[in-house]
Amino acid sequence: MSAVLELQGLRTVLDTPEGELRAVDGVDFDIGKGECFALVGESGCGKSMTALSILRLLPDVARIAQGSVRLGEVDLLALPEAAMRPVRGKRVAMIFQEPSTALNPVLTVGRQVAEVLTRHTALRGSAVQRRVLELLAAVGIPDPERRSGEYAFQLSGGLRQRAMIAAALAVDPEVLVADEPTTALDVTIQAQILELLNKLQAERGMALLLITHDLGIVAQMAHRVAVMYAGEIVEVAPREAFFRAPQHPYAQKLFAALPGAAQRAGALAQIPGQVPPLTAAFRGCRFVERCDLAFERCRNEAPALLELGEGRRARCHLRETAHAAPRVARTAEPAGAEPAAARVLLEATDLKVHFPIRRGVFRRTVGVVKAVDGVSLAVREGRTLALVGESGSGKTTVGKAVLQLIRATAGSVRYQGEEMTGLSRTGLMRHRGAMQIVFQDPYASLNPRMRVADILAEGMRSLGVGRDDADRTRRMDALLEQVGLPAQAKGRYPHEFSGGQRQRIAIARALAVEPKLIVCDEPTSALDVSVQAQILNLLKSLQDRLGLAYLFITHNIAVVEYLAHEVAVMTGGRIVEQGTAAEVLRRPRHAYTRALLGAVPRID
Ligand code: SF4
Repeated sequence: MSAVLELQGLRTVLDTPEGELRAVDGVDFDIGKGECFALVGESGCGKSMTALSILRLLPDVARIAQGSVRLGEVDLLALPEAAMRPVRGKRVAMIFQEPSTALNPVLTVGRQVAEVLTRHTALRGSAVQRRVLELLAAVGIPDPERRSGEYAFQLSGGLRQRAMIAAALAVDPEVLVADEPTTALDVTIQAQILELLNKLQAERGMALLLITHDLGIVAQMAHRVAVMYAGEIVEVAPREAFFRAPQHPYAQKLFAALPGAAQRAGALAQIPGQVPPLTAAFRGCRFVERCDLAFERCRNEAPALLELGEGRRARCHLRETAHAAPRVARTAEPAGAEPAAARVLLEATDLKVHFPIRRGVFRRTVGVVKAVDGVSLAVREGRTLALVGESGSGKTTVGKAVLQLIRATAGSVRYQGEEMTGLSRTGLMRHRGAMQIVFQDPYASLNPRMRVADILAEGMRSLGVGRDDADRTRRMDALLEQVGLPAQAKGRYPHEFSGGQRQRIAIARALAVEPKLIVCDEPTSALDVSVQAQILNLLKSLQDRLGLAYLFITHNIAVVEYLAHEVAVMTGGRIVEQGTAAEVLRRPRHAYTRALLGAVPRID
């Protein structure tokens, strides 16, 4: 397969107050015509910076220090800026993670696709309009005549992503760079977009550089895979070989950290520590501080990207002498087969939350949004009920309504047999400590102006936990130890912690008031897979030790397979199926559950 795009020795650096940050440090790869090449790795490893370097769309603080990016015969890095403009969009196009920021909010979708056509082709007037409609239809946008006159905000996330793909593919680029193109989408919409990309790529013979952190998507889409770590490629392999037996210890750890049914019986593998700062001067292997297999030479000598045959390469000293690493086993075990014998802690019956739609000067009610429309569920002591569904299905509203953070329109919520709806503020205070919540975004859920000690003490004081300040300080130390943070963390502010550490603080805050039930609202969806493994392990061990019950709100089926005892599937404000995890995940009965499970990209 002849290379359409070839990167050699690409180095992109950022000038920071701490010195030169080597975001991309000597990256080589090529992509053939019609090939999908996946670049995987966790946040901050240099994937997106590699993509932006190809198009020379770097932020002001970044510059390309070395290397070449050849598109056919042309080195893009040697072109003057004026000559780059016709390359962008025409020969190399890019689609981004978040279509709402990539599309212009003040231009209609049709106009944005038309602009690409008039800039890069000879089409004019009605021929442009005809082509716009053809393109919108080709990416599966229904009623293209009407939709082409609409603005980005009028389209759903999936339609916006399709519109961005239509604009990117308007002039048949030779290379499409797709940077996390489905991360912001629901799983069923993701499946449609991936299928669309697959189809368009096969029809047009485009080279596709797919940047993702999701190994399921890689398994479904890629012909070849490259893993990036700390600015370097540490492994390259054809898809089948990669999934059969990844060769680099980091890639192996990524697989082992993935939750799923096969891991239910034990803890997920964790990758200790963090990615090293890329301002540091490296002497040996960049993975050495986190590698279980490290030996003396790893500290003193940087490993080369070794050829292992059959198109495989890995950057690890061990691969010089050892044979290929053995196969990774991920055999599925029955999910959640345990009997549901525990006592019911929380029970919601026919719960409804309707929001009025008000219009006009007098704010008259002209209709209602039925966010939750007759939901019944039970959470048992020491067990996890996963509430699964796509965005807008009403999961979070159920979570808030059972905690009485929003008032239910109708229905009942009983905690240990006592009715919660209709309780006064004082009545609710008695139960506040027993039921806590951990939110999705650990960056937004902690007050940036409060030290960790104050964040933990706030709830304890208001709910009367602890005899005095000295007792509360003792409890804080114990809490921090429980969630795996040092006691010194008390004196620091949230911004001084990583995303995973902040989520630990949020969990410690919930535990501070000695709850029996925690509503976990997508607590790991903003985290990388290695950090997600740490938080899931922590939640599981806390449940085992303290007998906590979780109402676990998520759209991530792999997390459900790993953690849940019971599952309830929501769509359109209603639960359409519920049962034990084994029943629902293995033998789904409802068509929506089957569609949801069928849309999840799998690596097995
Ligand atoms: Fe681990 Fe050494 Fe291989 Fe680096 S070179 S991945 S430290 S064994």
